[in-house]
Amino acid sequence: MTTSRRHLLALATASLARPGLACAQGAGRVVVIGGGFGGASAARALRRLAPALDVALVEPNAAFIACPFSNAVIAGLRDIAAQSFGYARLAADGIRVIAQAATGIDTNPRRVTLADGSTLAFDRLVLAPGIDLRWDALPGYDAAAAAATMPHAWKAGPQTLLLRDRLAALPEGGLVVMSVPPNPYRCPPGPYERASLIAHYLKTRKKRAKLIVLDAKDAFSKQRLFQNAWKALYPGLLEWVPLSAGGKVTAVDVASGQVRTDFETYTPDLANIIPPQRAAAIAELAGVADRTGWCPIDPDTFESRLRPGIHVIGDAAIAGAMPKSAFAANAQAKACAQAVADLLADITPAPPRLLNTCYSLVAPGYGISVAGVYRPANGVLTDIEGAGGTSALDAPAETRAAEARYAESWFHTITTEAFG
Ligand SMILES: Cc1cc2nc3c(=O)[nH]c(=O)nc-3n(C[C@H](O)[C@H](O)[C@H](O)COP(=O)(O)OP(=O)(O)OC[C@H]3O[C@@H](n4cnc5c(N)ncnc54)[C@H](O)[C@@H]3O)c2cc1C
Repeated sequence: MTTSRRHLLALATASLARPGLACAQGAGRVVVIGGGFGGASAARALRRLAPALDVALVEPNAAFIACPFSNAVIAGLRDIAAQSFGYARLAADGIRVIAQAATGIDTNPRRVTLADGSTLAFDRLVLAPGIDLRWDALPGYDAAAAAATMPHAWKAGPQTLLLRDRLAALPEGGLVVMSVPPNPYRCPPGPYERASLIAHYLKTRKKRAKLIVLDAKDAFSKQRLFQNAWKALYPGLLEWVPLSAGGKVTAVDVASGQVRTDFETYTPDLANIIPPQRAAAIAELAGVADRTGWCPIDPDTFESRLRPGIHVIGDAAIAGAMPKSAFAANAQAKACAQAVADLLADITPAPPRLLNTCYSLVAPGYGISVAGVYRPANGVLTDIEGAGGTSALDAPAETRAAEARYAESWFHTITTEAFG
């Protein structure tokens, strides 16, 4: 499917996200936990859809640092300031912004406990806490190792700057090793965008340097598009090692700087380790995460399958075929807000249609994308066949440049919608 067809489809289906977008007028108290893409979008959608609701947003940080485009920060193409968003607009919308972490959630009675020991009562809760890294998953890799020597940069902020600075300090002829986890994880194409932009940095700034991408998988999102671009732009500079060729990292050693697989030991000048992940800790405390570490939901309403009254959206949720992306978190937020407003007004929610598009940059001015449309089927969010697709493999340079511009305008649109 061509990009322009997909964009038309996006416009058409965006208005279908919820048939008959009725303004539910039921009153009630909704607490949203997490002021990222999912939570901020949900809080604002709830205010729009049901102005009579009392909406509180619980988020400990004064500003949100966005991950999309953070790979460009690492490659020296963008300032981190462009990634930062505050909550003033949400407060101006009438949302009670509470600058604390949630430390507990009870459902009988329904209330959230905050870090200062106070509580917030709710009728329905929207939980959008994002991810935590699994520090127990890779021998040798813990929070201290990440902070000091082998940054993950999979949560944007100080880690992004650490990886950027370590890359800038790489010697000429230096070796960078990246490790990519198995599915599922935040942003399926994100590691390959990062590999591309690091390769661009090495090509333009560090003579004879090399990047090896060690992968715990044999296949990945937009694979042919990425690999085509790598062949053309970064020959001999970027090497991808799949699982079947021994790509899975099995341990790291911070003291010696080593990254180990079952077949090789690498001693790179810089290691970027992206460890396995799970829903952020509050999900487990609330009893909505299952043994996988992620949260099963009813795809019609995003209500937890484990605890009634708690809706889970964004990266933390098990959203079937939908990837863990900011685009998806925002789409789920709007569908979930409608369902919550309906349920509080005693209206049966209609099944949603959800869109996702993931853009990636493989170089400045060179963008690629994958899009999908999803709906509940047999209790899971399912890809509507033929409704999406990737950019064409043989697209001309103008199309790649246009996709890079679409990526920028998407970021502007989604951050404006979430944060104002
Ligand atoms: C390198 C990289 C590139 C990416 N690029 C893209 C892209 O191009 N396009 C795209 O669509 N997606 C992209 N993503 C993915 C995107 O960032 C995530 O999918 C998105 O942020 C998920 O939104 P969320 O609301 O679930 O979580 P988040 O946006 O992470 O928000 C979670 C919020 O919850 C808060 N929180 C956590 N615990 C608590 C608690 N106990 N109490 C209160 N608050 C809490 C956190 O402080 C945080 O603010 C990228 C990710 C990475 C790492």
